[in-house]
Amino acid sequence: MQYKFYNNLKNVINMIQVKRLDNKKQIFDVKTGQIYLAKKSRDSNQFYLNNKIKLQNIKGNPTSNVFPVKVLKISPPFSVDVEYIEGQYEIETETINLNEINKSHIGKKFTLEVTIDSIITTSGPTIFMLNDGTAILKATAFEKGKRAYPDLNDNDVIKATINVTEYDGSLECQLDAYKVLEDEASKNLLQKINQKLLDKAKPTQTNFLVNSDILEKLKPKIIEVATIIRQAIFENRPVVVRHHADCDGYCGGIALERAITPLILEQHNNEKAVYQYYRRAPSKAPFYEFIDVVKDLTFAIEDKAKFGQKEPLIILIDNGSTQEDVLAIRKMKLYDSKIVVIDHHFPGEVINGQVEVDKYVDAHVNPYLVGGDSSLVAGMLGVEVARFINNQTKDIEYLGAIAGVGDRSDGPEMQQYLEFAKKHGYEPEYLKKLAEVIDFEAFYLKFMESRGLVSDILGFDKNKQEKLVTLLYEVIEEKRANQLKIIQKYNKVIKLDKFQVVILEMEKLTSRGEYPAVGKSTGIGHDYFKQNSETVTLGFGPDFLTIRSSDHTGFNVNNLVKYLQKEMPYANIDGGGHERAGSVKFVEASKVEVREKTLEFIKEL
Ligand code: MN
Repeated sequence: MQYKFYNNLKNVINMIQVKRLDNKKQIFDVKTGQIYLAKKSRDSNQFYLNNKIKLQNIKGNPTSNVFPVKVLKISPPFSVDVEYIEGQYEIETETINLNEINKSHIGKKFTLEVTIDSIITTSGPTIFMLNDGTAILKATAFEKGKRAYPDLNDNDVIKATINVTEYDGSLECQLDAYKVLEDEASKNLLQKINQKLLDKAKPTQTNFLVNSDILEKLKPKIIEVATIIRQAIFENRPVVVRHHADCDGYCGGIALERAITPLILEQHNNEKAVYQYYRRAPSKAPFYEFIDVVKDLTFAIEDKAKFGQKEPLIILIDNGSTQEDVLAIRKMKLYDSKIVVIDHHFPGEVINGQVEVDKYVDAHVNPYLVGGDSSLVAGMLGVEVARFINNQTKDIEYLGAIAGVGDRSDGPEMQQYLEFAKKHGYEPEYLKKLAEVIDFEAFYLKFMESRGLVSDILGFDKNKQEKLVTLLYEVIEEKRANQLKIIQKYNKVIKLDKFQVVILEMEKLTSRGEYPAVGKSTGIGHDYFKQNSETVTLGFGPDFLTIRSSDHTGFNVNNLVKYLQKEMPYANIDGGGHERAGSVKFVEASKVEVREKTLEFIKEL
């Protein structure tokens, strides 16, 4: 990095900076090598730094009664040896940490060492985001319709004199003067700032809500993800939460949102920042799709150009672990984004604790990485990560249970999350309804963020939530009952030795764009058929297949995908999911053959 030196520019600090030692200061507050202002006393020929500390020997010949001196030697209790410093000087203003600035400082001047995090040119003032590692403060400078201080660049390290102001209810400051620090000084300061940021980014709370071996094994990874998220917030990096658009994904996404947005508010001290620096977006596919990354990149590049924002941190939750996510992740990485993944989908073979996406993401939490499975759902992981991000996070304890009900978790953690939900007034029967209602809402929300609506239904406004559940659950039940009637009429059951296979031509049994869609409808059919026998249910769409299996058939969606890929390399087979629930994509022309091969695969079980 190149640092520039400034000499005779307007507003550049180039005079000798002199400290004034106030009368409260003792001899041990004085530092050798530091420049102070010395003064002759009124009633003697003695020179002093303050009313106690006396100059013993003075090197050089001062010509006035007030002059700068460099301290050479300290002789307690009251004397110092100094050297007279010739030249123009100015009294250094007080220094302060940016995180200590509050409304009582409005109108006051301070001098402090900072980096310039980013520069934003507006039609009015030029905005410099100053960062000293404790906080970031917006500084303005005005130069009649031009970019102020054109010689300052991103990442410059400067000594800045600021004047604290208030604008629109938020604290900011004017950048009155500056001096670019020299190489060595700037390097030291950058290091100090980075260290402060890292210290601050470390989670302050690292205990889990529930007892879980898998969570304990995941702890280092959870700390890593939480640290990266906290760091992004504290360095003013925009945060994007991408989650699967189902009940589990919503719970995970909202748990993170409830941890992240208060920290952003605190960091910027500005309500608007919660919209400028945070975005949540559901992904329709159960993975980070190419269409998603195109949207995220478009926003990121625009925000960078318009507002001088940094590359975003992308958090993928209930998405992100699988082979299907890799392309989008790699594309996002090409543009210097940071990406962390919190997921419980099968991530492929684990070799030395690593899977395919680990090559590309900055940190990755997935129970499979430590011998767990998908029963520790994304909503539960989201709740635990949220507590590490922000130990004051409110309204999340019950989300683990809602997510678990949505994804039908039967893991050892589920019972404990249900207990927490119960404490918050969520009985199992209500949770079931709520999970359905969330899925229903998710279906119609599609790619919209809809922060307020989603937050209400996930318990932010419990009263409204109860009303929504009452209103919508009746509609959902009716739609589901209708769908079941259709499925009961049009289905094909194949009895095998150990279990039965149910084939549903879902594309002909559902209405496009209406709830319930193929996946949900396959679930409705499966729940019905599995009552009397172990069942594998296949719901066919035009170019995809949704699968549900009961517990003891030995069926595994990921193995089926591998088998079909090998048998039909020309059919563009893709897909996966959980062992007993997932989907397979294929080209429409291969549908009949996919059906035959799938049945062959199942008969071999
Ligand atoms: Mn899930």
